Amino acid sequence: MPQKTKDTPMMQQYLSIKKDYPDAFLFYRIGDFYEMFYDDAIKGSQILELTLTARNKNASDPIPMCGVPHHAADSYIEILVDKGYKVAICEQLENPKEAKGMVKRGIIKLVTPGTNLEDKPNQSKENNYLAAIFAVKDEFGFAYTDLSTGEVNVTSFTDFKQVKNELLNLRCKEVVVSPDFDTALAEQIKDLGILISQETPQKSYAEVAFVTQSLKEQSTKQAVNYLIAYLIETQKRSLAHLQIAKVYAANKYLQMDHNAQNNLEVFRSLRTGEKSGTLAWLLDETKTAMGSRLLKQWLRQPLLDQQALIKRQDVVQILLDNYFQRSSLQDYLTKVYDLERLAGRVAFGNVNGRDLIQLATSLQQVPKIKATLRDLNEPIINQLVEQLPDSQGILNLIETAIVDDPPISITEGNLIRDGYNKQLDQYRDAMKNGKDWIAQLQAQEQKLTGIKNLKIGFNRVFGYYIEITNANKAQVPEDRYQRKQTLTNAERYITPELKDKERIILEAEEKSTILEHQLFVQIRDQIKQQIAPIQVLAQKLAWLDVLQGFAVISERYHYIRPRFTDKNQVNIIDGRHPVVEKVLGKQKYIPNSVKMNAKTSVLLITGPNMSGKSTYMRQMALIVIMAQVGCFIPAQKAELPIFDHIFTRIGAADDLISGNSTFMVEMMEANDALQHATAHSLIIFDEIGRGTATYDGMALAQAIVEYLNNHVHAKTLFSTHYHELTELASELDSVQNIHVDATQENGKLVFLHKVLPGPADKSYGIHVAKLAGLPTELLHRAQKILTSLENQSLTVNPVDKNTPPLPQSQVKEPKQQLSLFSEPQPSHNQALLQQLKDANLMKMTP
Ligand code: ADP
Repeated sequence: MPQKTKDTPMMQQYLSIKKDYPDAFLFYRIGDFYEMFYDDAIKGSQILELTLTARNKNASDPIPMCGVPHHAADSYIEILVDKGYKVAICEQLENPKEAKGMVKRGIIKLVTPGTNLEDKPNQSKENNYLAAIFAVKDEFGFAYTDLSTGEVNVTSFTDFKQVKNELLNLRCKEVVVSPDFDTALAEQIKDLGILISQETPQKSYAEVAFVTQSLKEQSTKQAVNYLIAYLIETQKRSLAHLQIAKVYAANKYLQMDHNAQNNLEVFRSLRTGEKSGTLAWLLDETKTAMGSRLLKQWLRQPLLDQQALIKRQDVVQILLDNYFQRSSLQDYLTKVYDLERLAGRVAFGNVNGRDLIQLATSLQQVPKIKATLRDLNEPIINQLVEQLPDSQGILNLIETAIVDDPPISITEGNLIRDGYNKQLDQYRDAMKNGKDWIAQLQAQEQKLTGIKNLKIGFNRVFGYYIEITNANKAQVPEDRYQRKQTLTNAERYITPELKDKERIILEAEEKSTILEHQLFVQIRDQIKQQIAPIQVLAQKLAWLDVLQGFAVISERYHYIRPRFTDKNQVNIIDGRHPVVEKVLGKQKYIPNSVKMNAKTSVLLITGPNMSGKSTYMRQMALIVIMAQVGCFIPAQKAELPIFDHIFTRIGAADDLISGNSTFMVEMMEANDALQHATAHSLIIFDEIGRGTATYDGMALAQAIVEYLNNHVHAKTLFSTHYHELTELASELDSVQNIHVDATQENGKLVFLHKVLPGPADKSYGIHVAKLAGLPTELLHRAQKILTSLENQSLTVNPVDKNTPPLPQSQVKEPKQQLSLFSEPQPSHNQALLQQLKDANLMKMTP
């Protein structure tokens, strides 16, 4: 019987390292491979589709093993991290040839979903945020950072729902918490598909002290502390680009929860989940990755501050009015690379020569940008120019030191310009002289031997050699030449003097590449001292970039500058839905106004399906968001209050099908709005009450309208198919009816998409049914039922606006139930009834 093998020294080393990283895949470097063992190997081989083998195959307890070649490791690491796992990279810390006994190994970094820096071209326009939460009593400190750019933001919440919402809005993939963090709450975070990482800060790091320096509150300070400590633990390298934590308060911005963001398709399309067809997609005419990221940040956090908005609008107006300066500005911005991420790479110490050239190219644009801006001769633009650091020192340094087209590697030379360093120039002279000498030698030897095609070559194994084809072998001066290598059709020789020169050349070459690397590191460290101004420059240029983009789309789509009012009234003349308009083309889009005076709080919207109710409501919400990021808006003219919160309840078709639980969601969303909206909020309620039985739903819808009228006073757009609700307008002075028109032309229902005052025509449903070709007999019957229903009042008299709404139990049940399905029917109607029952209304179009 084979005995259980004792762990070899290497496996002992492996296990002792692995025990500190139980929740990560450990990539253990052996020679040219990273190997995984045990469970890592079993799981890793499945995910990465690698062959699972074993160490000690013949022992009774073989160790599962699989591996990836080190040069291809990045793509494997990427797959694991993309799937939400962590990967600990364990390197050989000494040269195996020089090591006495076991080669020393250690973790050089931990790659995690929230700290992954792999540059994917299509992701440079997105942030990758890592968050940390620290609970103190009932308060949650909440901090987040993008490691690649070094921004750090922090706030606190009292409600864990807000914490989850912020995580979703930021699309965080990973959250850092302390080991004693509430496990139930941690579970809730995991349910969102977010990885939880525990951290115990080992000591107080200098970086932490720097970043938290402006914080006093315990919860926020600790949240940042845990966040930075985790970065230091995982990265194990310089984080000089981290910026001082910026404190923000969610209620300083126009708030939208994750649902509202989704429903309004700010970042992702509801249908496809893609970016195209969204507001962010429409508004992004930025030229830089930094600008694109800033735009998304603005859309996550539209402003409440009227002065700041007016400033943005002023800049948009100026750029809109000055085409020439705008287009030069765009040309220059196009040449500005991702300065924020370049600054990050300088700090990490992983910039190469090409990055520095990108940095220089970007900095070269600054004087041109400044000149263009000054040319506009506008005080607020001049202020901006004053704030733009030009970092000329760095530019000069790179321009004098780095060659125009450096290689990717920083250890193989050809990086540093001639004339930058004397010593380097001397090595290069030596190399050049040597090479010149060799070129002359070739000519000289051709003459001496009379062999015309004698040539001198070089390879890594034999160095310089003289090559003579077999045909000329007889003429080789055997006394002077020493044979080195035989090929099929040639012989290679060396001479002592050739080897002498070779030594000089190779020595100079080696020394110069070492020196070039040293010089490069010095240059990099010099630039590292200047990261802060580069980051400021990046932010200012991003700001300018977003606004020039706003000018571009405002011009292209004929947007206008909205005026903000302190009166609580909305007056949008001929507004358009920006995305639908773009898709349909301006000609086809029917503009619609939204008018709500200070007293109006509910617009009750009726009209047939597909007439444009939902588009109208979304149009309003998108216009508000656009206005509050400082963009111009699709309308003829507009006056808007500043909204503090947008609430939405918009049912998607699929949640209508899935039944009760979605009705619960519908009611929860409605409740959120009713509880938290203020008179300065915007509420979008699309067909509320639809998820339950008719009377039930209608009763709730009416009670909600009444409650909005009596208590909330938020500006509300309320679409409904309960025609009976339209009577509320005559009772409640804050409720107004509008409807979307449809008409019949040559027997076809034509949607005019035009919003008009008053309620919709009651019998449009029957019109639609007629157009759909339902049997005449059925239509007559429907008309009869409608008339009989109209003769009874289905609405409860609206309550006086000063009394609270009726509890549901007191809502009177209508005397008669809908007769359609409950009345005994004459037999000839049975077939029709069946036809109606079988109809799949969700799949039918008008
Ligand atoms: P409803 O909510 O009334 O069912 P929608 O708002 O979903 O209707 O609109 C249905 C379709 O009508 C939209 O997909 C859009 O293409 C078109 N539409 C809506 N409003 C307009 C408009 N103002 N101008 C042109 N087309 C519109």
